[in-house]
This record gives sequence, C-alpha cells and structure tokens, in this order.
Amino acid sequence: MDQLRCTAPLGVSTSRALNAYDRRDMDINGLVVSTWLAGLGIWPLVIVLIPNLLFRKYGQSAGKKRMSSLFQAIAIFLITTVAAFLVEKELSDKYLFLAVGIVALVLYLLRARVFPYKLKCVECDATLDFKTIYFMDDNLCTDCHSKKMAEQEAAEETAEIPTEKSEDESED
Ligand SMILES: [Zn+2]
Repeated sequence: MDQLRCTAPLGVSTSRALNAYDRRDMDINGLVVSTWLAGLGIWPLVIVLIPNLLFRKYGQSAGKKRMSSLFQAIAIFLITTVAAFLVEKELSDKYLFLAVGIVALVLYLLRARVFPYKLKCVECDATLDFKTIYFMDDNLCTDCHSKKMAEQEAAEETAEIPTEKSEDESED
C-alpha cells in the first residue's frame, strides 16, 4: 500500500485497489446474494402475504388482484427457496441470477395477471388512491365507481327481472 501511495497521486491507486476488493466481494461465483436472501428466511413471503389477508374484506371486487398478490408471493417463495438451496449445496450466485431471470420472464409473460395495477382511473384519468390501486379490480376512482354502480342498478331495474318465482307445483 505504501508503495502504491508513493507512485500514484492523491490515493487514486488506493481507491482503485479498494474497488477491486469490493468487486471481489460481488463475484457472481460467490454466494453473497444467496446467503443474504436465505438469511431473510420467510420474512419476504410473510410481508407479501399479510396484505393478502386484507383482500378478504373486499371480496369479489378484489378477486383478480388477490390472485396477483399470490403470484407475487409464489415468485418470492421460489427465489428465496433457490437461494436457500444454493447456500445449502454451496453452489454459486450465478444460478440465483438465472432463477431470478426465469421468474422475471414468467412474470413478464403473465404481467396482465401479476401486475394489473393502474395509477390512474381507467375512465377519467384521475389519480387513484392506494386502496384502489392495490385492492380494487375495476381501477376506477370513487366518482366513476359510484357512477358505474348507479348505472348497473338502473340497468337492473329497467330489465325488470322477475324476482324469484318460487311457485310450488300444486298437485291436481
Ligand atoms: Zn374516474
């Protein structure tokens, strides 16, 4: 180190040497990332699944997004499982990156189902609140949502569907 400092101006070589040292730590043939991920245990999964419980409250109107959050949980489960497996077998991070690549590709192909989120109302372009973005399938702002509900109700009324004709068959 002393020798480097003498030959190079202002510690440039020192910082280069440190960078090289950092890079050695990030070697993809190592297990740094896998070890870190495996060390997190089931927490990433728990963090994704806790909001999933909140979906019950919204029932049918949040069915699609509930599935989406399950898909996301499965993706996280796969990646953390691969990481734990690699650490266990003392393999390298490159397989983890491969697994992440494959999972990312599958998520991309299924993106309509995995990420159905919209930041703006699909009818009027108003910014949506978090509840709508994360839970509600219709991606409508409060105004458009209530408008749509009113329209549906009106449509049902004009259709005049006969209500439950439960006539008992009389015996002759
Ligand atoms: Zn709207």
